[in-house]
Amino acid sequence: MMCAALYRQSTAHAPRHLRGNCLRADNWDNARRERCCPMSRVGVWIIGDQVCRQASSLAGVDRQTPIVFVESRDFCLRRPYHWQKLVLIFSAMRHHARELQNAGRPVHYFHGAADFASALRQFVAGTGIDTLRVMEPNDPGRLGPPGEMERLIGCRVEVTPNNQFLCDDPWFDQWAQRRSTLVMEHFYREMRRMLDVLLDRDGQPLGGQWNLDKLNRRSSIPADLPIPEPFAVAPDAITCQAIDDVHAWFGDRCFGATSPAQMRQLFTWPVTPADADAALDDFLQRRLANFGPYEDAMTGRSWSLWHSHLSVPMNCGLLHPRDIVERTLAYALPRVKRGSLPLNSVEGFIRQVIGWREYMRHVYRREAARNDAAPYAQRNALHADHPLPDFYWTGQTDMACVRDCLRPVIERGYCHHIPRLMVLANFALLHGISPQQVNEWFIYAYADGYEWITTPNVIGMGLYADGGIVATKPYAAGGAYINRMSDYCRTCRYRPDQATGPDACPFTRAYWPFVHRHQRMLATNPRTSLMVRSLSRLSASELTARQQQSRAWLQSIETYRPSG
Ligand SMILES: Cc1cc2nc3c(=O)[nH]c(=O)nc-3n(C[C@H](O)[C@H](O)[C@H](O)COP(=O)(O)OP(=O)(O)OC[C@H]3O[C@@H](n4cnc5c(N)ncnc54)[C@H](O)[C@@H]3O)c2cc1C
Ligand code: SF4
Repeated sequence: MMCAALYRQSTAHAPRHLRGNCLRADNWDNARRERCCPMSRVGVWIIGDQVCRQASSLAGVDRQTPIVFVESRDFCLRRPYHWQKLVLIFSAMRHHARELQNAGRPVHYFHGAADFASALRQFVAGTGIDTLRVMEPNDPGRLGPPGEMERLIGCRVEVTPNNQFLCDDPWFDQWAQRRSTLVMEHFYREMRRMLDVLLDRDGQPLGGQWNLDKLNRRSSIPADLPIPEPFAVAPDAITCQAIDDVHAWFGDRCFGATSPAQMRQLFTWPVTPADADAALDDFLQRRLANFGPYEDAMTGRSWSLWHSHLSVPMNCGLLHPRDIVERTLAYALPRVKRGSLPLNSVEGFIRQVIGWREYMRHVYRREAARNDAAPYAQRNALHADHPLPDFYWTGQTDMACVRDCLRPVIERGYCHHIPRLMVLANFALLHGISPQQVNEWFIYAYADGYEWITTPNVIGMGLYADGGIVATKPYAAGGAYINRMSDYCRTCRYRPDQATGPDACPFTRAYWPFVHRHQRMLATNPRTSLMVRSLSRLSASELTARQQQSRAWLQSIETYRPSG
């Protein structure tokens, strides 16, 4: 059945994928131009995480239109961002600016400006524009309250629709309107239909099922299975200059701060669309096949495994999800048909890109727009208020899993999804760490971290602080899960099967106290009610011992440094 469906897909029924209802910059611009004052003098501002060459703000403007890029020191100093993220953004902006300049466009580039407003005021005064065009930022509220920016820079501001995503706001809102709860899996199926992705001629999923995740749960990676080296771009002169500037301007304030020589060795992210295309090719050819089966696996042998690492170029606009989907399908469909590539890997990857990523963006956009007393980012449904332990910053802890997951974060601003969810967020969930502090940490620490994508993942998926808007249950797990899905426990000084005593695994010890603390909420959820029923198997004295030891240990680790 699967082969027949694939055959039809690739021969009789040419895919319409990605035509859908997505907003295209050129469509918007044609409609808009008719309404714009023909005499207005327009300038375009490119924001650092919008270096996409197809930005709607650039569409249709004439070649003389001045374009401005601003590196704001004030913005970068407000938070201890990872140096990897700052180098990435500055280098990607500088490459984009140079490309535009080489094409004869008038570019005004403010290197290390004091702040956005003063640089933009200078741009407005120097060019004589009366309208500054900017694409709607990815982070909601980034331009401040209506009218504020106009007042600050002294000219009209025109916001063009954001076209960095596959699904536009009206389409998602219409889909959401018809539902009482917004379930990702339902949205994903609708996206498959809308984009005509991995469907047979009758509009049914290739392979007969929408979600093939049950084939994607391999935990142990065979010792003789070679793990591919991650794709790496050697820093060119522009990136090296960005490294020197970031080191000189922000130095030790940065997350993961280290010497410029070390930064040159560690910085390997794509900084141009050509680099990002090469990264995608590398993923398709060397890692997609094993992406599915080992998607949830973790190992101290490799930080990169078979993941794509494409969130970094995608989130700053170097790679459009449309291109990822089109090229993945072009590469994968003939191979799946021939039987040389597993469909579960392709479906699993496509689901992350057209499902989870788009869903998270829109759920957060809608939540952030609400005028609620408790804004989404401030929610704390489980009343967790313990401060974030020091080891999230230093990586120094005796917990082998946490240490191994933090190492690539500190060095590269990256670790893959399962360490984020089932180790770093899970630790915080079980131990009642403040969701707001955890969210801030994720935004600072990751090269792909921005408010719009980190917040729903941390507040919603990781810490269940939104009370179940994003996740259908809290992702809480003890040491047994981590032991099953990784090789970390083999080298750990703690034992995953011990819940009390000096060798007790902190995850295992904290698990039942967590269930006990939240039993009323967990009992009402069909996906977690069994957890609460199982709680009765634990004696009262055993529960008390775990609660007391867990609490005492947590109090001790704020200033704790491991012995070795
Ligand atoms: C606590 C927590 C914090 C996170 N913070 C971020 C963040 O700051 N920025 C970010 O881009 N992602 C974040 N994620 C989602 C996910 O972990 C990363 O997108 C993924 O690990 C990026 O690595 P990759 O490109 O190798 O992904 P792959 O495993 O190769 O997946 C392919 C793509 O799917 C998308 N994707 C997969 N899962 C998600 C998800 N849950 N939400 C949104 N997109 C998803 C990403 O764009 C990713 O590039 C977070 C997840 C958790 C649990
Ligand atoms: S024993 Fe516990 S703390 Fe140690 S690696 Fe395993 S899960 Fe992590």
